[in-house]
Amino acid sequence: MKRLSTNFNLAIFVLFLLRLWLPSTEALPISATKKLKKLDRFEEVGDRTPVKTFTSSMFEHWSPEKSLSKDSSASSWNYQDTNAWANLPNSACGAKQQSPIDIRPRLSEKKAFSKLSFENYGNIDKMGLVNSGSSVVYTLPSTFPKNRVPSISGGGLNDVYNFIQFHLHWGANSAKGSEHLMNSKSYPAELHLVHYNTKYGSFAEATKHSDGLAVLGIFISVGPNDNEFFQPLVGQLDEVITAQSETILTNLVPFKNLLPKQTTSFYRYSGSLTTPICNEIVIWTVFDNPIQISEKQLAKFRKLEDNTAKSLVDNFRPAQQLNGRIKFYRSFTGCEIPRSWPITSTPFLDAFTWTTCLINFTFSPWQ
Ligand SMILES: [Zn+2]
Repeated sequence: MKRLSTNFNLAIFVLFLLRLWLPSTEALPISATKKLKKLDRFEEVGDRTPVKTFTSSMFEHWSPEKSLSKDSSASSWNYQDTNAWANLPNSACGAKQQSPIDIRPRLSEKKAFSKLSFENYGNIDKMGLVNSGSSVVYTLPSTFPKNRVPSISGGGLNDVYNFIQFHLHWGANSAKGSEHLMNSKSYPAELHLVHYNTKYGSFAEATKHSDGLAVLGIFISVGPNDNEFFQPLVGQLDEVITAQSETILTNLVPFKNLLPKQTTSFYRYSGSLTTPICNEIVIWTVFDNPIQISEKQLAKFRKLEDNTAKSLVDNFRPAQQLNGRIKFYRSFTGCEIPRSWPITSTPFLDAFTWTTCLINFTFSPWQ
C-alpha cells in the first residue's frame, strides 16, 4: 500500500514538472497541423496590408454615422437584387472572401481557441437608435466615456476590439431572416455586434485593414415568451418607422444579456461586411447557441420602413461561397486532441495537454 502511494506521488510530481514546462492555458491545447497554421489568417502577423480608402457613407450599416444624403449608397442598392451589388463602384461584393456563409459543422476544423473575453459588457444608458433604411442600428451615446466602451478580446483574436454598434437582420416571416445559415437552415433573425480593432485608433482607420473589424453573429430563434432583456431594443421601434429617423433609448440596454447563455463555443472565419461594398475586413465569430425572443417582439421590426417606404423585411444577404476558406470551431470545452493523434511524435504529451485542458475547463467558470 505504501509503495503504491509512493508511485502515485512520483507520478503526480512528474505531471507537475511537465505542467510547468508546458505553455500556459491560453495556448492549450495544440491541434493545428503545419498546413492549417499556414492558412490560419487570425494568427498571421504579416497580414496587415492596408486596403482601399472608402467614404463613410459606404459603412452606414456598420458605423454609427447615418447618411442623410438621398444620393448616398443607401439608395443605390437593395435586397431584391443582391447580385447587382458586385457592379457598384469600388465594390468587393464579387470577391472571394464574402459573408455570410452557410455553416456546416461537419466541415469545420476544431481549433483550441482561448475563451472570448467580454469587457464592460454591462448595462448602457441612452443608446442611440437609427433606422438606416437597411436595418436598425443601436449606437453608444456620443459622450460615452472611452474607458467604459464594451470590448472583446481573446477567442483567437490577436487584438482588443471596441464595440461601435449593433444591428439586426430579419425576415418577412420566421422561416427566414438570418444572414448566416446553420446546415443550410435560416433562423428568424440575426444580431450583429460590431467591434473595431483598437490598434488602428478609430473605426474609419480600422476599415482599411483586413483585421479591422470583429463582428459577433448571434442567431435569434422565436419562442413563446418575450425576452425581457430585448424589450429595451423593441420598445421604441415605433419612433423610427421611417428610414433615416432616430431616437434615444430611455431604458438601459443589458449588453451581456444579449449574448447567448453559453459563449464558449463558436465558429470563426474570415469574411466581409454583408452590405455593399462588402469590404473583406471582418473576423467573424458566429455562436452556435441562439438567443430567443417572441414572435410579438420580432413583429415590431417588420413594421419598419426602408428607404423607399416599403416594409423593411428580408434584409439579409444570401450565403456566399467559402472558396477554400476554413471555418474553425471552438468546442464547449476548447480542448482538442490533434487530428493526427496518436501518430505524432509526442502522443503522451498531447494526451497530457488535452487532459490538463479538460481539468482547467472543469475548474474554471464557463462564461
Ligand atoms: Zn449585419
